[in-house]
Amino acid sequence: MAHGPSRSAACGIFPDRGTNPCPLHRQADSQPLRHQGGPVGACIVNAENKIVGIGYNGMPNGCSDDLLPWRRTAESILDTKYPYVCHAELNAIMNKNSADVKGCTMYVALFPCNECAKLIIQAGIKEVIFMSDKYHDSNETRAARLMLEMAGVSFRKFTPKCSQIVIDFDSINSRPSQKLQ
Ligand SMILES: [Zn+2]
Repeated sequence: MAHGPSRSAACGIFPDRGTNPCPLHRQADSQPLRHQGGPVGACIVNAENKIVGIGYNGMPNGCSDDLLPWRRTAESILDTKYPYVCHAELNAIMNKNSADVKGCTMYVALFPCNECAKLIIQAGIKEVIFMSDKYHDSNETRAARLMLEMAGVSFRKFTPKCSQIVIDFDSINSRPSQKLQ
């Protein structure tokens, strides 16, 4: 499978990303995601709060991140990311590890756009919990709200207990040893 030399796909955290590199590794890349609008993630859980699908925004499988544009503005829309990028919600639904996601809840970083709202409704997801609604007044978000409300998909803002989570990969070595048995 062809993909760019510097952003190889495989890593221990997301080993099955195809041509889409792990988002944690892409952060350290020469074209950081924050310059591209930042990573957007989605996570679907079932009635038991078990994860049944996760996704983040990225180019379609087999479509190279190195060849397709990530910029937001250009003379032609074909030179922006918009015609190509798969939103996190789409990827989370497509990546599901259960037969379907009917009755599930989706956690998303950003309130879904109108296209993702359609996917959420058609997939049978019943609740959307979002972190940010910063495009609240955009036409896409207004259409999304309208459709979600009509379809009976509830949505609410997530209120985090803390403002950040730090993942310390070294902590497993510095913790006092614990007997496994
Ligand atoms: Zn979307």
